[in-house]
Amino acid sequence: MDSLDIVKTILASINKQKPVVALHEPIFNGHEWDYVKDCLDTGWVSSVGQYVNRFEQALQDYTGVNHAVAVVNGTAALHVCLELSGVQQNDEVLLPALTFVATANAVSYCGATPHFVDVAPLTLGVDAERLEAYLDEHTLLKNGKCFNKQTQRRIRALIAVHTFGHPVDLSPLLALCKDYGITLIEDAAESLGSLYKGQHTGNFGVINALSFNGNKIITSGGGGAILTNDHALAKNARHITSTAKLPHAWEFVHDQVAYNYRMPNLNAALGLSQLEQIDVFLERKRALANTYLTNFKDAQGIHLFKEPDYARSNYWLNVLTLDNASIKHRDAVLETCHDHGIQARPVWRLLHKLPMYRQAPRMPLPVSEHIEASAICLPSSVNLWPG
Ligand SMILES: *Cc1c(COP(=O)(O)O)cnc(C)c1O
Repeated sequence: MDSLDIVKTILASINKQKPVVALHEPIFNGHEWDYVKDCLDTGWVSSVGQYVNRFEQALQDYTGVNHAVAVVNGTAALHVCLELSGVQQNDEVLLPALTFVATANAVSYCGATPHFVDVAPLTLGVDAERLEAYLDEHTLLKNGKCFNKQTQRRIRALIAVHTFGHPVDLSPLLALCKDYGITLIEDAAESLGSLYKGQHTGNFGVINALSFNGNKIITSGGGGAILTNDHALAKNARHITSTAKLPHAWEFVHDQVAYNYRMPNLNAALGLSQLEQIDVFLERKRALANTYLTNFKDAQGIHLFKEPDYARSNYWLNVLTLDNASIKHRDAVLETCHDHGIQARPVWRLLHKLPMYRQAPRMPLPVSEHIEASAICLPSSVNLWPG
């Protein structure tokens, strides 16, 4: 297939109603207007209000996680997850080089150093087998704690990202983290609605993060949530995201340096109405993914990501990768897409190539490099479904 054929196939797969097709945009067909208006009518727009509680309860019911704490965005959620996992100054945290920059930035906020690891081609998430061989060679275990032999720093946590919404293979990562005394955190920012072995993502790490940014499967404008099954961690998360204020009717007393990360009621109102529609969103996304998969089925040199057997993906973002012989067409495809009003994009620049993370430790990253060079993210909005 040449670049024009690829673009024609993309066009044939989507329901193109507008001159420009965004990579991912939200739709508001539920109770959005009613709930947001209710906030304005009642004056409850800020960091306290019934929609925050209702949204948190709905997130718990939907994901099956015992505790959800709504916060201002996914990055803040990750920051708190790391802090409550005990990540401190001079620690290292393992995370894929193939992720959004926020995953690494949250590590930096703790004064810790990101340590980049490679992903597996079939899951697009951290490759447990290769990570194990790497840790075996490059780290030392002392009293059940893992230290980087070269930097002497403690490796405290691993952030497993469910890339583009596709669940990473968690079982081998959980076993590996147990062996090495490393805390597993799920970056489930993209994977609301995705299941790993029948259970919702965000149930497996010790403490985990969601995002409701405008481009995610549901949006609260800006927003995120901390998910955990640990009661004490949830209590702490609630405390440090609301300035560590001690409950009292009128006194302002705070017992530690903390954050103003609570989600405003206005955002929770939007988020709740979106969450009420997630089953429809998921159904349409699956239909769109299946259409892409079918239409590219016989295309030479092109691979479309499909959920692994152990997972049910939310298909948040569809990605196409070109094999080595076709990689040369990548930029022409992007350009031709642009000419046809289709916002197709490459994946993120790998994080170890960004100026602030160039010096960060990393394992060899051949699979991430291949995906960076060959992948095209396809328009995946709910309103593009072909039905
Ligand atoms: C969106 C996203 C985040 C950050 O969420 P924000 O709400 O934008 O702060 C973190 N990690 C991944 C993988 C993301 O896609």
